[in-house]
Amino acid sequence: MKKPIYLDYHSTTPVDPEVLKAMLPYFTEVFGNAASRNHEFGWTAEAGVEKARAQVAGLIGATDKEIVFTSGATESNNLAILGVAEMYAEKGKHIITTPIEHKAVLDTCQFLESKGYQITYLPVDKTGMVSAEQVRQAIRPDTILVSIMFANNEIGTVNPIGEIGRVCKEKGVLFHTDAVQAVGKVPVDVNSMGIDLLSVTAHKIYGPKGIGAIYVRRKNPRVRLSALIHGGGHERGMRSGTLNVPGIVGFGKAAEIALRNLSTEPKRLAELRDRLWKGISAELDELYINGHPTSRLPNNLNVSFAFVEGESLMMGMKELAVSSGSACTSASLEPSYVLKSIGVGEDLAHTSIRFSVGRFTTEEEIDFAVAKIVSAVKKLRDLSPLYEMVKEGVDLKSVHWTAH
Ligand SMILES: *Cc1c(COP(=O)(O)O)cnc(C)c1O
Repeated sequence: MKKPIYLDYHSTTPVDPEVLKAMLPYFTEVFGNAASRNHEFGWTAEAGVEKARAQVAGLIGATDKEIVFTSGATESNNLAILGVAEMYAEKGKHIITTPIEHKAVLDTCQFLESKGYQITYLPVDKTGMVSAEQVRQAIRPDTILVSIMFANNEIGTVNPIGEIGRVCKEKGVLFHTDAVQAVGKVPVDVNSMGIDLLSVTAHKIYGPKGIGAIYVRRKNPRVRLSALIHGGGHERGMRSGTLNVPGIVGFGKAAEIALRNLSTEPKRLAELRDRLWKGISAELDELYINGHPTSRLPNNLNVSFAFVEGESLMMGMKELAVSSGSACTSASLEPSYVLKSIGVGEDLAHTSIRFSVGRFTTEEEIDFAVAKIVSAVKKLRDLSPLYEMVKEGVDLKSVHWTAH
């Protein structure tokens, strides 16, 4: 077993060996510019790109022409939101989203607010979910876009995307979803779910970094986007620039594998995730799962370990690569805005750890992780006077603390 053990598949994933194999020829023999129409080098590169376009389209039930390649989901989210904002500005300047989107959505919306757009942030419930009814209530005559993530990257909650899509269709409002964490783990179908724009990225599904795509609906309705990057008219004018052919080919292969594994892999991931939870919860008390109990990504486990400081816990189990519920900003340790939005108190948020398993996780690794976590938490709690008081039956809320 190689250490450290990687339990951070929401952050990024290794390139699948089959993906790498598909990419390699495109760095050397097949090096042409996919836009070179005059010779064999260009044609073979273009054929690689078009095959990948079909593979990515296939993963989400789209047609080839609806896929636009970008540098990743950050760019896709920017293109969806800014592209609609500019193109449909005459219709209105109101956008609906949630407070627990990825920063690529939140910061883009904040930028638009500075340009005079109005953004409604729908409150999420304590599991991190929004309802279609909330979306219906929030839509106004000047609403031009609803942008709601398919599945959350911290707490794993999967939103009722099909229901939200139906409301948007009914109201005639464009619907964008950041589906980065959902594709390959839950079924995604742009047509049955009423999705008009969808962001994906290769490096979260065992493809390379720096390549992603946006799905742009062509029919019922035909969505138009203002481009962010100009110069040459590649990707039907929506994203100029010489195509990253090896990256695109790898992305296509990664999408093909994800689709092929869709009926088996998520089930295996859920078993590993559940094995992790069963292992730690059998040995430890005062654990709280963040996110939805069932409508949840199969590979996600986000846990608050009460009476243990998250950063100390991470230090205590350095052989595990995980993420904490706090973000280091320059001045201080800020609790995650996602946990804050679902009502997790600041204290508990600082004790939270996100575990995410993936294609290359083994049962052996999970068992090792369980042992590490249990011993690290027990060690820290042995040093915690608060935990000791709780164990002795003291109700902490009844304690009057005095400052010295
Ligand atoms: C990783 C991630 C992104 C950003 O994707 P990049 O390709 O790294 O820019 C956007 N949204 C979600 C939900 C993510 O998890």
